[in-house]
Amino acid sequence: MTILVIAEHTNSALAPATLNTVAAAAKIGGDIHVLVAGSNAGAAAEAAAKIAGVSKVLVADNAAYANQLPENVAPLIADLGKSYSHILASATSNGKNILPRVAAALDVDQISEIISVESADTFKRPIYAGNAIATVQSSAAVKVITVRSTGFDPVAAEGGSAAVEAVSGPSDAGKSSFVGEELAKSDRPELTAAKIVVSGGRGMQNGDNFKHLYALADKLGAAVGASRAAVDAGFVPNDMQVGQTGKIVAPQLYIAVGISGAIQHLAGMKDSKVIVAINKDEEAPIFQVADYGLVADLFEAVPELEKLV
Ligand SMILES: Cc1cc2nc3c(=O)[nH]c(=O)nc-3n(C[C@H](O)[C@H](O)[C@H](O)COP(=O)(O)OP(=O)(O)OC[C@H]3O[C@@H](n4cnc5c(N)ncnc54)[C@H](O)[C@@H]3O)c2cc1C
Repeated sequence: MTILVIAEHTNSALAPATLNTVAAAAKIGGDIHVLVAGSNAGAAAEAAAKIAGVSKVLVADNAAYANQLPENVAPLIADLGKSYSHILASATSNGKNILPRVAAALDVDQISEIISVESADTFKRPIYAGNAIATVQSSAAVKVITVRSTGFDPVAAEGGSAAVEAVSGPSDAGKSSFVGEELAKSDRPELTAAKIVVSGGRGMQNGDNFKHLYALADKLGAAVGASRAAVDAGFVPNDMQVGQTGKIVAPQLYIAVGISGAIQHLAGMKDSKVIVAINKDEEAPIFQVADYGLVADLFEAVPELEKLV
């Protein structure tokens, strides 16, 4: 049994989610190969070769793969992936963009967002926004799987010494081209990788009031998230949204401020290790999942908390 893990990377560095995906592959068992498809991706390939438990790194270096356009990368993965028992990618925007095309090309069902591995052909995945967990058994010859990072602790980034092999595949499919990207720059940790997340909801009242959360987050070394209501109201950009239609986070500590705790929000954060809720309504559903709840006006509680940190 040999498993192909698709590296999530920026050509110059590996994304941390790759380590969680390798962890899922290790649970399945067997040899683990990592594919780095990119352009001038030597640094990412080198990093992949150091991941604990990886036996081989395949590097497909081609200008057509530079920006992970699914139209170009999926045919390469489908081509290489035919000889593997499993193809795994992180359930990030990239993974979710690329892997369904791979599954279609291989004529198999995709198994999406697994959170645990029961055996080589049986996996657990959340359904109904995390309100039920399905156990899925697959008889597909090649199992095409996206992995929810929060379900698997990352393997060590160092310690391995995998062989690196160059591979090639179909070039530019000519169906799409990369126009540009606007990357949000922040000195705070990335939301899905942060150990502490402070999130604000509609209770924040406006975007300016988020400064209270930024001040607290900076003292805690935390990322700042938001509910969809806060995003829809234009308080903060939508890359900060946590929840069913936002980002899935599972930090050591999640502080929900002025968030009621709708199921769609809980779907994105309820696996956090410790949940703290600050809400002036003691009946707010967020208190049902909170380990620590503070019934208080956030405009008093948050500045006070910040002073204490
Ligand atoms: C298909 C679908 C997908 C969705 N996806 C998401 C998603 O990904 N993420 C998400 O978050 N939501 C999502 N939603 C929306 C979700 O249903 C809720 O509407 C949303 O989460 C509510 O956000 P909120 O808790 O900030 O606002 P509200 O529900 O309005 O809650 C505001 C809270 O702030 C408290 N508050 C107000 N003032 C203060 C104060 N001064 N001090 C302390 N507390 C105060 C109130 O008591 C209240 O509990 C989705 C909905 C649908 C239908």
